[in-house]
Amino acid sequence: MPSLPVLVLNSGSSSIKFSVYEAGDGERRKLHEGAVDGIGTDQGSFWIKDADGNKLVDQNPALPTRAVAFKLVADALHSGDFPAPVAIGHRMVCGGPTVQENQLITPALIDEMERYTAFAPLHTPIAVYIMRESLRLFPGVPNFVCLDSYFHRTMPEVVTHMPIPEEYSAMGVRRYGAHGISYESIVYQLQPNVPEKLIVAHLGNGASISAIKNGKCLDTSMGLTPTGGIISGTRTGDIDPGVLLFILRKIAETAKSASEAADQLETVASKKAGLLGVSDLSNDMRDLRDAIKEGNAKARLAVDKFTWTIARWIGSYVAELNGLDMMVFTGGIGENDIVSRAEICAGLGALGIALDPVRNNVRGEAVISAENSRVTVRVIPPAEDLIIVNHVVRLLAE
Ligand code: AMP
Repeated sequence: MPSLPVLVLNSGSSSIKFSVYEAGDGERRKLHEGAVDGIGTDQGSFWIKDADGNKLVDQNPALPTRAVAFKLVADALHSGDFPAPVAIGHRMVCGGPTVQENQLITPALIDEMERYTAFAPLHTPIAVYIMRESLRLFPGVPNFVCLDSYFHRTMPEVVTHMPIPEEYSAMGVRRYGAHGISYESIVYQLQPNVPEKLIVAHLGNGASISAIKNGKCLDTSMGLTPTGGIISGTRTGDIDPGVLLFILRKIAETAKSASEAADQLETVASKKAGLLGVSDLSNDMRDLRDAIKEGNAKARLAVDKFTWTIARWIGSYVAELNGLDMMVFTGGIGENDIVSRAEICAGLGALGIALDPVRNNVRGEAVISAENSRVTVRVIPPAEDLIIVNHVVRLLAE
């Protein structure tokens, strides 16, 4: 296959991030990356950098809508100043029970995935919007969906099945997990020496953990939606369902309709809980570490809950894997927060995990376990765009 420019799109609530790779047989080279940020504001930012980090576009346009933001990207890539993409890969958290394979995007496929918006409610509406716009603004260019749930599709039924009445299971309610493209990228980077028993902790603003056996996902902490699992920036993680019912009943006392009450509950569980809810201060680990230094007890409790939950989860995954060869930290906190890594691992000596404090004093890729640690502990940044490009190239060749 000749070398071709492939565009990768990853959209969030207020931004559209993208990168362009030159991709051919075995060849992957990032040409450009960029972002439109501040959607919904009068003064957003739009930038594109080359592979050496030189800014080729640096603007502060008004971004009243997502449509305006995406058109800026499409116009730039059609301007002749950049290689126009011949294929496009879209990150998607979850396509529901009927869409579990990465594949070519058609209008019918978008409609099908949109039926399951409730399974990633903060992400799916934006992702399907960008897919439709992408088909319209890049006519004739094949678009492919790359799912986070793809990596987790190997989990056994005992893990994916939820303990609920069958009628809801039949609606597709089950564990799908998230951050799958990040996990896939860690396994990819470990090749050809992927350990048999691996735990990866993706600790970013959203946080999850996976147990991976022989490179395949065995279990992951997030559930039907990214709200489940370990506590993260603004999400509860797994919680006694009675707590949600209690909050729902409180909300229902003043809500105008059942759907308004459900929306409010979703906001509480997904946007106001987690580190933000407990600290009553911030969902950002850097703010919490600063506050702890100033003696803020709620920030201390929030971070302690975070590290305690993760340590417990690691313990249960060691049991599930029946041992552990390697543990990997990734995501913004996993890569950068030296203290969180030390606090999580502090109580895990019995599992054969021992950090070397000097090696752990690092940001970015490194082996951080002590010489005598039975388990190798590593920090590896994710390479999600590269994984999406790999899938696009594979699917183009099919
Ligand atoms: P992500 O969602 O992967 O971008 O990760 C965001 C999280 O990483 C936020 O909680 C940040 O506070 C945290 N983070 C990023 N850089 C640092 C740092 N240098 N020290 C501590 N936490 C960091």
